[in-house]
Amino acid sequence: MNMTHFRPTTARVDLTAIQKNIEGLRNHLHTDAEIIAVVKANAYGHGDVEVSKAAIEAGVTMLAVATPDEALHLREVFSETPILVLGAVPISFVSFAAKEHITLTVFSMDWLEAASEQFSTLDVPVKVHMKIDSGMGRIGVRNEHEMLTLYHGIQSSPQFELDGIFTHFATADEEDSTYYDQQKDVFIHLVNQLPTKPRLVHAANTAASLLKNHVEFDAVRFGISMYGLLPSTYVGEHLPFTIHPALQLETEIVHVKQLKKGEHVGYGATYEAQEDGEWIATLPIGYADGVLRGLQGQEVLVGGIRVPIVGRICMDQLMIRLPFHFPVGEKVVLIGKQEKEQITMQEWADRLHTIPYEVACILTARVPRVYYK
Ligand SMILES: *Cc1c(COP(=O)(O)O)cnc(C)c1O
Repeated sequence: MNMTHFRPTTARVDLTAIQKNIEGLRNHLHTDAEIIAVVKANAYGHGDVEVSKAAIEAGVTMLAVATPDEALHLREVFSETPILVLGAVPISFVSFAAKEHITLTVFSMDWLEAASEQFSTLDVPVKVHMKIDSGMGRIGVRNEHEMLTLYHGIQSSPQFELDGIFTHFATADEEDSTYYDQQKDVFIHLVNQLPTKPRLVHAANTAASLLKNHVEFDAVRFGISMYGLLPSTYVGEHLPFTIHPALQLETEIVHVKQLKKGEHVGYGATYEAQEDGEWIATLPIGYADGVLRGLQGQEVLVGGIRVPIVGRICMDQLMIRLPFHFPVGEKVVLIGKQEKEQITMQEWADRLHTIPYEVACILTARVPRVYYK
C-alpha cells in the first residue's frame, strides 16, 4: 500500500531484496525445514504487512511477532497464515487467540492453569508452542520437570493444542561456540524427553541458520538477515550467501545557502563556518524520524559523495555542509546507496554504539514506507 504523502523523506523498501534473502536461505538450508518470517516490531521497522506479503510469496509458512497486538494487526490482512506470538501474553488474550487462530508461546504452569480456569471452554483450541529456556535466561521452562509438567498440563486442557516447542540462542552470532553448543545440547536433550514430539521443533535464529549445522529441526526463525542486515560482524565475515539490504532512507534538500566565516548553524550554535562561502543545506528529517541526535557528524550522500551533518540534529530538520552548490530538490540518501557510495545501518550502529537491529527499529512511524519490487 503506497499512500500519498507530502514529504520527500521516505524509507524505500525493496521487497525483491527481502524475497532474495529468503531464497538465499532456502537454498542454503540442507533440509526442507520451514522458514518462519520474524516480523515483530513492524518487521524491524520495514513495514509488517508488506514484508509479510513478500515473505509469504517467497515461501515462508509462518509469521512470528512479539506481541498480541502485532499478531492481530497481521491477522486482519492474512486470514490463513499461522502467526506465532513469541513473547508472553496476558491471559485475557486467550479468547482472542482462539477467535483469530493465533498461536501462543507458553512456558508457565501457573499461566496455563489460570487460563484454563478463566476460559473453561473455547470454540476452537488455541495452538501453543512451549518455550524452553536453554540459556537465554528470558522466558521458558528450565528443566525436564517443568517441561513435562507443562506438557501434561497442555495435553489435559482441551482449550489448548500443542503445535511446537522452541528455544532461543544467546550467542549464535559469536565465534566461540561453547555456550551455543551447551544450549543446543540442553534443548535436544529436553525435546527427546517428550512423550510425543509436536509438529514444529525450532531453535535457529538468523545467526544459527546461517552459520550452524544441524540446527534446523523443523523450522528456522529468520529475522535480521531477511532484511539484508547482519546479526554481527562475525556473521558478516562468514556469510554463506549474499544478502541484500532492503531499506533505503532518503530525503531531498529543501533549502541551500552560503555562510560567511564565523556564522553558526543549529541549536546551541555549535557549528561555525570555517570559511566564507560554505554551502549549507537543510534536510526535512530529524530525530523525530529516527535520525537521533547522537548521529551528529554522521555523513549522508549527495550527488554520490559523502557530506557531513553539521550542528545539532533538530526534531524535524538537520543541516549538512556541501562541498559546492546543489539545488533544492536534490536527492539525499541517509541510509543506502547512491552511485558508488553506500551508508549502511551498521555504520549508524557503530556511531550510536549499538547494533543494526536497534537502528532499524528507531525509524519512526512518521517516515512513510514506500514499497517497490
Ligand atoms: C527476534 C527473535 C528472533 C529473530 O532473531 P534474528 O536474530 O533477527 O534472526 C528469533 N526468535 C526469537 C524468539 C526472537 O525473539
